[in-house]
Amino acid sequence: MKGKLYIVATPIGNLEDITLRAIKVLQEVDIIAAEDTRHSLKLLNHLKISKPLISYHRHNEEIKTDLLISKLKEGKNIALVSDAGTPVISDPGEEIVKEAIVNQIEVIPIPGACAAINALVASGLTAKEFCFFGFLPINKKLRKEKLEQIRNENKTTILYEAPHKLENTLKELELILSDRKVVLAKELTKIHEFFYRGNIKDIRNQIGEPKGEFIILIEGNPTKEEESKKELNELTIEEHYEFYEKQGYTKKEIIKKIAKDRNVSKNEIYMQFLKKKD
Ligand code: SAM
Repeated sequence: MKGKLYIVATPIGNLEDITLRAIKVLQEVDIIAAEDTRHSLKLLNHLKISKPLISYHRHNEEIKTDLLISKLKEGKNIALVSDAGTPVISDPGEEIVKEAIVNQIEVIPIPGACAAINALVASGLTAKEFCFFGFLPINKKLRKEKLEQIRNENKTTILYEAPHKLENTLKELELILSDRKVVLAKELTKIHEFFYRGNIKDIRNQIGEPKGEFIILIEGNPTKEEESKKELNELTIEEHYEFYEKQGYTKKEIIKKIAKDRNVSKNEIYMQFLKKKD
């Protein structure tokens, strides 16, 4: 019988953020594939788990995928972990997941910490719809294109950034964001956890020399929201309702949103909606 591939989330700072299920899986698998074996060893020692470790990182992903797939085919169960958080999310793992699926090997996610999601839920920015861009590309042309996309994006944008590149990235963002709200989530789950809030200028003034790990969150472009509002208002009331319903809003929220889009009272929408539904 083939083994199973577990994608195991580990803490992003606070070691208490490991789930009971993650511990159980790490105790029970035959092999742990780790982005940095020395780094993961610290966590495993803390959990008193001793297992054969295989390094699996960006630069050996291809060779190690073949090795790990052959082990899985031999019936070995493997847990994939990254240095922090959820593997695959701006971390290695995509290759082995794809190959496992091709080889009809079961892939089981073990949920846990993910920096982007935790930054988003405490940011105060809308989480109804959001765009995760991971790290901005280094290539100049691609980077410019991505920044342009962020400038036009009407959903909350989430970016990862390395601490030594943060200052430069914030400078670039200042050129495209005007007064949009920005949140910088620093050192999540650690002693110096902090959320900076304001427009990009305020944030740059507040942080000084950045120390620690950061996530950048940006409010959607309100102008683009106006444009999409205009498009929505050309829909019938039912189509407008369906648009928000598909996004998971409740009836009460939808009526409020339609009224706001169309600049009329909630009651008016409610009455129209009742009439049309009859
Ligand atoms: N896979 C990870 C996850 O699930 O979040 C992300 C790995 S990515 C290589 C590392 C980036 O995530 C950092 O540069 C930073 O932007 C963000 N990050 C990770 N841990 C963080 C933390 N404790 N606080 C703030 N940002 C963090």
